[in-house]
This record gives sequence, structure tokens and C-alpha cells, in this order.
Amino acid sequence: MYVWPPKPFAALRWILAGWLLPWWGCFTVLAVSCWYFFTPDLASMKVLSWEWMALIWLRNAVLLTLFAAPLHWWLYTRQGQQDETKLNQKWQPKNSSRFLFNSQLKDNVFWSLVSGVTIWTLFESITFWLYANGYVPVVQWKGSELTILALGVVTVFWSPLHFYFIHRLLHWRPLYRLAHALHHKNNNPQPWSGISMHPIEHVIYFSAFALFWVIPVHPVLIVLLGFIQGISPAISHSGFQEVRLGKQLRIASGDPFHQIHHKYYEVNYGNKPVPFDKLFGSWHDGTVEAQAAFRARRSQLKQA
Ligand SMILES: [Zn+2]
Ligand SMILES: [Zn+2]
Repeated sequence: MYVWPPKPFAALRWILAGWLLPWWGCFTVLAVSCWYFFTPDLASMKVLSWEWMALIWLRNAVLLTLFAAPLHWWLYTRQGQQDETKLNQKWQPKNSSRFLFNSQLKDNVFWSLVSGVTIWTLFESITFWLYANGYVPVVQWKGSELTILALGVVTVFWSPLHFYFIHRLLHWRPLYRLAHALHHKNNNPQPWSGISMHPIEHVIYFSAFALFWVIPVHPVLIVLLGFIQGISPAISHSGFQEVRLGKQLRIASGDPFHQIHHKYYEVNYGNKPVPFDKLFGSWHDGTVEAQAAFRARRSQLKQA
């Protein structure tokens, strides 16, 4: 995307085939359906109340489960494709004292649902409340179609942009020890590891919603940002580059780029759509050259 001289068609092909499709396209369809059928009416959200917030919590928890649980079942419980496209050849042990309840799966489900979905829902609800009260104006669909489309583009780029900077912050030693280390216990991640984070990290991570406190959008984009932040990590942390169902059906799944971050920590703070790792020298694309550069940088740091 960022090569010079620019290659617009190749970039567009990568944006669609290498990034947005199929999963983010699926989240967009889901966000539209959820806004119209599974979100309380905006007028009823004028007053912050546990009743409607609980409904949003339930919707988010069910949706996260509908993505993470079948992925976990197919890839790990049933081992439906054995180790085909598995990013880390080692299988995760069933029991491990590193994790809560002595189990990576139970630990991940606990942090994802109890803390993750709750803090996601709180940020989403506060955002709806601001719009319901007119503190931020709603961009209506009619007459603003192009604006909403442009804001959709802003939303999908905002997520990785925000992630790079908060992730750098989370690797600041005191904050790492306090919060981010919990996510990094998953050096061999699984679908439920995606938003298995410390509550402090959840607050920082879901603060992405604050963009819509200053930039007015259509509420569908609020729901969409929630799915991108809350559900897409279940796919990217699945630990398998592709989900294979039968011989024909292959769906892009785990993100090798972020998986390398889980292994080596000091590389790939961002995701591929933003160029900052490349700019600041922490880019690791899994090649022998990138590994050599990473080793050299690490020994330089140790000497310093
Ligand atoms: Zn991660
Ligand atoms: Zn990290």
C-alpha cells in the first residue's frame, strides 16, 4: 500500500483481498443488521440504564461466542484440519498453571467475556448515549451517503492506527507488567485469546470509540467499530493462517504478522495496514532477513 512510486491497483487489491474480505465485509453486513434489529432504539438510550446496556452486552457476548467458539472447536477440539496452516507447530497444552483455572481456554473465555465484552459494551453504550442526547449529531443516511462511505473508510483505518499507538504504550515496562503481560501469556494464541486482556488494557483498547465522540457518524459505524475491535481479534489470533473446510473451502484466518509479535514481543506493534513498524524499524514479516535484522537490533539494545 505504501510503496513508491504508488501502485494503486495492487494496493486496492490487497486492501480488499488481503485485509477487508471476507471477515470485515462480514462484520459490515452484521453491523447493519444489528443496528436495525439487535440494538435498542436510539431514543430509549437517552438515559444510561442497565436494562438496555445489558441487551447490548448480551448481543456482543453472543456474537463473539458465535465466532470464537466454532473456530476453537474446529481447529483445536476436533482438530478438523490437524496442523495444516497452523502458525505455531506446537499444540497448546490442555492444562497450564500459567493461566487462570489452569487452562488457557477457560482463562481466555473469562477475560474476554467478563472484562472484554463489558468494557466494550460500556464504551459503545456511552457513545450511543452521546448521540441519543444530541451531544454528538447523528449523520443521517439520506443525503450523506458519500460522507458515511468516507467515514467507513476512516473507521477501518482508525482501528489499526489507534492500535499501533496504544500497543506501543502498553509495552512501556510498568504498563506491560501491570496489564499487557496478561495478553502475552498467550505466546501461542487461540481464537479466545483475541481480547483476553487485563481490564486496564481493555479500557485503553476500547478507547478507540472516543473518535466518534468528536467526529459525528451514522450509528452503524459505532456498531461496526465494536465488531472490529471486539470480534476480529478472535479471527486474527486463531493460530491458523487459513481455516480449511474440505478440499475446496479455504478462508483466511490467523494473522501471521501479529502471531510473530506474540513470539518475539518487540516487533510488529501494529498491523499491516499501517506503515509505522516499517517506519520505526520494528517490522518483521517472517523472512530470514527480517529475523536477522531483529536479532541484530536486540543484541544492540542489550549492549546499550
Ligand atoms: Zn495479540
Ligand atoms: Zn504486545
